[in-house]
Amino acid sequence: MRIAMVSEHASPLATLGGVDAGGQNVHVDALATGLTARGNDVVVYTRRDSPRLPDRVTTPGGYTVEHVPAGPPSEVPKDELWPFMGDFAAYLAQRWGENPPDVVHAHFWMSGAAATWAARRVGVPVAQTFHALGVVKRRHQGVADTSPADRIEVEAELCRSVDLVVATCTDEVRELVALGIDPAHVRVVPCGVDTTLFRPRHAAPHHPPRILSVGRLVERKGVADVVAALVGLPEVELHVVGGPSQDALDLDPEVERLRAIADEHGVGDRVVFHGGIAREQMPEIFAAADVVVATPWYEPFGIVPVEAMACGRPVVGTAVGGLLDTVEPGVTGELVPPRDPAALARVLGELLADPERRAAYGKAGAKRAAAYAWDDVAKRTEDALRDLVLADHSEVVPR
Ligand code: UDP
Repeated sequence: MRIAMVSEHASPLATLGGVDAGGQNVHVDALATGLTARGNDVVVYTRRDSPRLPDRVTTPGGYTVEHVPAGPPSEVPKDELWPFMGDFAAYLAQRWGENPPDVVHAHFWMSGAAATWAARRVGVPVAQTFHALGVVKRRHQGVADTSPADRIEVEAELCRSVDLVVATCTDEVRELVALGIDPAHVRVVPCGVDTTLFRPRHAAPHHPPRILSVGRLVERKGVADVVAALVGLPEVELHVVGGPSQDALDLDPEVERLRAIADEHGVGDRVVFHGGIAREQMPEIFAAADVVVATPWYEPFGIVPVEAMACGRPVVGTAVGGLLDTVEPGVTGELVPPRDPAALARVLGELLADPERRAAYGKAGAKRAAAYAWDDVAKRTEDALRDLVLADHSEVVPR
């Protein structure tokens, strides 16, 4: 199949760990690579955010990235990109008018809006993966939510207009049904993990015990709750990976906030910030952890817990979003309520005191993570997209 993937802000070529560069970038890259390996011709359309970028790039994964001129050719926070989506959609319509793909897979709501508009003009079916939902973000962030006001309505409209929503976890299906989607129009395909990179490996024993948090440094990832939990975990060190590179950490507002919270709790000397780390080094980082924590307030999927499991590490997570599917309590880790440092401290304390249980969880985690191998996820996505192509009854909407 000729597959057009649209990922307006999350370029598969971007450096990870920044405020807007995380799981979606990894997802789009790995999925495009997996679909290419299965014999499809894949082009990823993403916004040009630097004048130095070439129009088109062939990636190591064998697929093409096309940089779409929409808005200034500089970095723009994703929540400020909505006004440029008209230009993005017009570009797609022009390109697809010349050479239509068989199917479009859009990632994130703005991509969905631009892709649907353009695809309808050439009669091509559209699958949508939201990655995150505006209603959930609004519920948790309230007035701190910087998403454009239209987001929730556009997402509800996409639920009605796209040919298929590919949800990444069962909790998302529940949210989509509440938004009014016909359950027949949703299929769950989880995010994947690179099981060739993320594998169990031996790490030299170390003291003091080390817990690890990995991810973009944004408040909703709940790192502050782990910092607070350290009060109940004497000696234990928290290692935080993510955010800008180490030399720029002092300028990062979330690092400053977390350091202040750590000092307030008297645990500042036990919290180590590593900054953003290249993906290739992540397996080593996971291997050096006794327990990996993933404690978001909410989480559309959460690749980090699966990467940790693939590396044979036990995971203590919050019982939200994708973690409800990926972490099996009492088998691969434990789940605690979000924003509950006391529960976190108790569960972490018990697990850190029990090396046998940690080893058993790690082993079970590695086994469970195999079900999230990208080959398999790419195949399941390909099946979903092929069904759309075979069943395609889309009509061309006149311009
Ligand atoms: N990541 C990384 N280096 C960092 C921080 C994060 O490679 O310094 C990767 C991490 O391994 C994972 C992704 O970024 O693959 C984060 O994905 P997740 O779904 O957990 O969170 P999101 O960023 O999408 O909210």
